[in-house]
Amino acid sequence: MGNHLKSDIIYWEKELETLPREKIEQIQLKRLKDIVRYVYNSNPLYKKELDLRGIKPEDIRKLDDVRILPFMDKKTLRDNYPFGYLCVDKKKIREIHMSSGFTGKPVMMVYSDEDIDQWATCMARCYRMAGIKEGAVIQITPSFGLFNGGFGFYHGARKAGLFVIPTGPGNTLRQIKLANDLKTEVITGVVSYGIRIMEVMKENNLTIPSLKVGLFGAEVFSQEMKKRLRSGLGIEVFDIYGMTETGGVGTTGMDCPFHEGIHVWEDHYLVEVVNPQTGEPVSDGEEGELVFTSLTRKAFPVIRFRSGDLSRIKSREKCECGRTHLRIDYIKGRIDDMLIVKGVNFFPSQVEEVLMSIPGVREHYQIVVEEQNGIKKATLNVEAEEGLDASYIEKKIEEALGITLKSRLFKPGQLERKPGKAERVVYLKKD
Ligand code: ZN
Repeated sequence: MGNHLKSDIIYWEKELETLPREKIEQIQLKRLKDIVRYVYNSNPLYKKELDLRGIKPEDIRKLDDVRILPFMDKKTLRDNYPFGYLCVDKKKIREIHMSSGFTGKPVMMVYSDEDIDQWATCMARCYRMAGIKEGAVIQITPSFGLFNGGFGFYHGARKAGLFVIPTGPGNTLRQIKLANDLKTEVITGVVSYGIRIMEVMKENNLTIPSLKVGLFGAEVFSQEMKKRLRSGLGIEVFDIYGMTETGGVGTTGMDCPFHEGIHVWEDHYLVEVVNPQTGEPVSDGEEGELVFTSLTRKAFPVIRFRSGDLSRIKSREKCECGRTHLRIDYIKGRIDDMLIVKGVNFFPSQVEEVLMSIPGVREHYQIVVEEQNGIKKATLNVEAEEGLDASYIEKKIEEALGITLKSRLFKPGQLERKPGKAERVVYLKKD
């Protein structure tokens, strides 16, 4: 739990963020009906998908009726790249962002003026939720490019009236100097860049006394890593959530100062949790795949988009922060990232959780997966301070996860750091 007082709790749209649950659901139902009718009437692909199944927009009568609609996933989006699902005239497009897949076509998101405003509104809510007031100095370290991070933080910061320092990533020493010159209060970035700043500060014996808050996301982010960032940077750390397909960083929410999971902006997104194998809904509290329907986007709304992210509904009750939008648990990982070694399933985030709880283990690690003759073998490369024993790390991982990960220790700074997102899992294929 955060050390926030009730007086610190501020909102961007207080009324909407604290609506009674029945009211949220009324809004969702109206918007769900509207969005289904809208995509049906504005895009032939959506129309075909529904016609094929004999579904008409007026068949949506209650919220659960969302389940009659077909799923979308990364593959459906890639197959119809770039404009297959476009629902507005091309002249209305103002911006695009995309995520680079490992192979083949990218997934692209298209924004109209209204969509950029919707994005900025979701982000402005996140900023206020983190206690960030008008005029606060914010340093935006994700890249300003096709990746949605830089621009997402930027659009939101403009709306929320913040003083933006648009550094983008890299040149960390200069970033720290700039933060001290301009008295940066808020830092935003991918998780590994937060770690990088912490590392460079430590190496050079520097501090940023003005810094109060960090918003990080887009990568594996265990609770133990949050603790490290919190103490290493001396700030409060928030876990911001969003993806290209829902419209970018912050669209699907963030945790609040009470840090009991992620508030999803339910008036903008309908969230379902389904069994990843069957696609059937699971009960609240049960783990499954998050599925999002964007209720308010215009250029390219997604309907029942299977995110691939594993989580669960944590609570639909009103939170201590006063917000009534439901909370999902922190993301356990992407289904694609699940590793199966000798019949045991585990996620990189679980390995990180164990590693970061061991004093002397540093924040850089890599899970190396080697495949030989169809058999997977995983080992671990870990940066650690002198005096730590690899067998101790192996024992801790075995106790927590029931797997044996042969570990190799490296001196701090020895593992390669790449720009952008950290590569936590490295695949090596041998024939
Ligand atoms: Zn809350």
